[in-house]
Amino acid sequence: MDGRGLAKRIVMEAAARAAEISQRTGTVPCLATVLVGEDPASATYVRMKQARCAKAGIRSRHIGLPADTTTAELIEALTSLSKDPDVHGILLQHPCGPHIDERAAFEAIAPEKDVDGVTMRSFAAMGFGLPGFVSCTPGGIMRLLEEYDVDLTGQHAVVVGRSAILGKPVGMLLLAKNATVTYCHSRTVDLPAIVREADVVVAAVGRPRLICGEDIKPGAVVIDAGYNAGNVGDVDFDTAHTRARLITPVPGGVGPMTIAVLLAQTVDAAVHQLGFQRH
Ligand code: NAP
Repeated sequence: MDGRGLAKRIVMEAAARAAEISQRTGTVPCLATVLVGEDPASATYVRMKQARCAKAGIRSRHIGLPADTTTAELIEALTSLSKDPDVHGILLQHPCGPHIDERAAFEAIAPEKDVDGVTMRSFAAMGFGLPGFVSCTPGGIMRLLEEYDVDLTGQHAVVVGRSAILGKPVGMLLLAKNATVTYCHSRTVDLPAIVREADVVVAAVGRPRLICGEDIKPGAVVIDAGYNAGNVGDVDFDTAHTRARLITPVPGGVGPMTIAVLLAQTVDAAVHQLGFQRH
């Protein structure tokens, strides 16, 4: 499954909408990125997101806070961005560090600017099937499945991983598409036996090649959201791709979709906040 190609199309569409908004309202859609500390990997992610924004005609504003920022200071910065009419979307790069109450920080993001889909309100909207911003990686995974016409009705989807930003929400979105969903995690007994039953496997763990090709049911659809050192996914691609009907590579599968959804949701946020109507 070509995530890179689909992501490019989504970004092009977001760029066209951003250009139209800028032209007609005089306001350029703006994403604020917030980073606590100087973790090199996090800093790279933020720079990547800013670069993609620039290419798509979305303005970005970066708030870099020192590593010893307190939860209260971070909340203050996020509250101020939430009130700023020039900012349409807010992304708090995480993890923020062990001394920060990340949940409290996320909740300081105004729901209408939560383009990364991290607040409780966004999570609840996903669960209830109500309009709202989805977590970007789960949203990207669902777009990929849609693009490849994967009919999820009655399919057994096995989600390996249950994090609040990835495993849990992707399971909710698969359920909403009538899949029968099984969640697996670090305490699951005999993971390979469960994966063998799956019509759709979503790997969201962060353990290189945890899922072997021999455990993939022939004809299954395999989504590998894992991203580990050395550009390696959670699925052993070489052995899995011979059995899977569809499979995402790492890199070039889920990764580019995450940023594409972030940009598209930033433009959506600007559309709502500016009351923009398309002709
Ligand atoms: P996380 O918060 O660390 O969650 C990992 C999940 O995997 C947990 O639910 C954990 O179970 C489960 N797990 C750990 N070891 C396991 C094992 N041996 N067997 C079965 N389950 C196991 O990670 P995350 O933030 O969800 O990210 C997961 C992966 O996706 C990482 O590789 C990350 O880099 C990648 N990711 C990629 C993107 C992208 O844009 N492509 C975006 C986000 C994340 P417990 O709950 O029991 O601890």
